[in-house]
Amino acid sequence: MKQNLIAGNWKMNGGLAANEALLHELQQGLARALDSKHAQVAVCVPAVYLSQMQQLVMGSGIDLGAQDVSTHEQGAYTGETSASMLKDFAVRYVIVGHSERRQNYGETDAQVALKAQRALSAGMTPIVCVGETLLEHESGQTEEVVKRQLAAVIHANGHCISEIVVAYEPVWAIGTGKTATPNQAQEVHAVLRAQLKAATPHAERVHILYGGSMNAANAAELLSQPDIDGGLIGGASLKPADFLCIIAAAAR
Ligand code: PEP
Repeated sequence: MKQNLIAGNWKMNGGLAANEALLHELQQGLARALDSKHAQVAVCVPAVYLSQMQQLVMGSGIDLGAQDVSTHEQGAYTGETSASMLKDFAVRYVIVGHSERRQNYGETDAQVALKAQRALSAGMTPIVCVGETLLEHESGQTEEVVKRQLAAVIHANGHCISEIVVAYEPVWAIGTGKTATPNQAQEVHAVLRAQLKAATPHAERVHILYGGSMNAANAAELLSQPDIDGGLIGGASLKPADFLCIIAAAAR
């Protein structure tokens, strides 16, 4: 059975001293909890801290992730960070298509698909976020929306699709304290798994994470669902005790 993956999304939070303190607490907690069962753990940090974090995570078993990548390889794109630049800092995961980027920066399905492609070409694993808004949820469009978002990435990435991580993040659950019920989440994860199965014989290998107000109290039940292979954690990843509880719930 594949290990669960718990990835923290720090968003635009942190600072040199705060990052060091957080990592220190995480490492201590992980060292105490170390046994035969564990989960894969990653932290996706602001790009400016990748250099610091590369040093801090070294040898800790925690993987490093970024929160975005440019659709371009290099050139006159002020403010952008390319996949090869991320790779220079031993980045393993790159979040692409987070709803905050889709909503606040107008990222399209096509751009998200290209970002996933850039990450894969550079040898990194894109964490492709899909999820419906509250309006779409309430009007029964969840399945249609997530399938459209994932289809764009499948179309652009062909046989490499088994190398991605998918994160189902209902937009109405992100940072709101509202969580999809385990059944609701499992239903959508099963749809995504079926879509992956139609695209690759290796669909079972793909981690499908749930994200949206996952916390110490609800993690175990969500993670017990057959198609939930981990979590993408926002707010709770900034609180070491909570993040460690989620990691413990994910250990199997
Ligand atoms: C996220 O931003 O990816 C997320 C899941 O946030 P939160 O856990 O705070 O809802």
